[in-house]
This record gives sequence, C-alpha cells and structure tokens, in this order.
Amino acid sequence: MNESISNCDNHCIFCKIISGKLPASRVSEDDEYLAIRDVNPQAPVHILVIPKLHLPGVSEFEEPAQLGRLFQAASKVAASEKLSSFRLVINKGADAGQTVYHLHIHLLGGRQLSWPPG
Ligand code: AMP
Repeated sequence: MNESISNCDNHCIFCKIISGKLPASRVSEDDEYLAIRDVNPQAPVHILVIPKLHLPGVSEFEEPAQLGRLFQAASKVAASEKLSSFRLVINKGADAGQTVYHLHIHLLGGRQLSWPPG
C-alpha cells in the first residue's frame, strides 16, 4: 500500500479509490491529491479534490501548507474544467453535511450558485 495512505483503517471509501481498489471517474492527480467526479453531482461540474493522506476532516490538518497545496490543486482542476466561476466547499461534521470522513474539497461550477447555501 502507498505509504501516504498507510494510516487509514482500510474502511475508508476514498482511500480505496486512491489505492485503486474501487473505481472512480478520475480527473487528475499528483503525489498529494486525487480529483474525481462526484457520483451524486450537485452542479454540472462537481469534482472532489482528495488528499492522498488520510485525515478525517479539515480540523485534523497539521501542516497548513498541505491545505494550501490542496486548494491550489482545486483551483488548477477548476482551470482545467474551464471554469471562471466556481465554489470550493469543505463540509466539517455531520451537521454541515459531511458524510465521508476523509478530507475532501468539493469543486462546484457550471451553473449559477445561490448564496447562502442550504
Ligand atoms: P461530504 O458529504 O461533504 O462528506 O461529501 C462526500 C461526497 O462524496 C458526496 O458528495 C458523495 O456524493 C460523494 N461520494 C461518495 N461516494 C463516492 C464515490 N464512490 N465516488 C465519487 N463520489 C462519492
């Protein structure tokens, strides 16, 4: 197993996608992140930018620069999707809508996005 996901308990769906055990619609990746299309898209473009390092959520990030690189990666994915307007979202905790406890950024675009979100 890739060293970067060796801290995962093996039950995490995103770790299984990262390691290739589960299929996904892959958009791009590098050493630190994988971008996949969301299976239940909420906008014409709905991509998840997932760090290969398993962390349950945004509060568990220890090294701020890693989070910065993840947002940089999300912006690059938005550019590759030719999005000039887009939204980046991290849901933290059940009340905020987090359902997968492996940190990820939602990249949403391709339509008018209302504010505030629900
Ligand atoms: P959150 O609710 O913020 O934790 O986001 C989890 C997202 O993962 C949801 O938008 C789901 O639709 C998406 N999702 C769950 N399983 C998969 C999968 N196998 N492939 C792609 N997206 C997934």
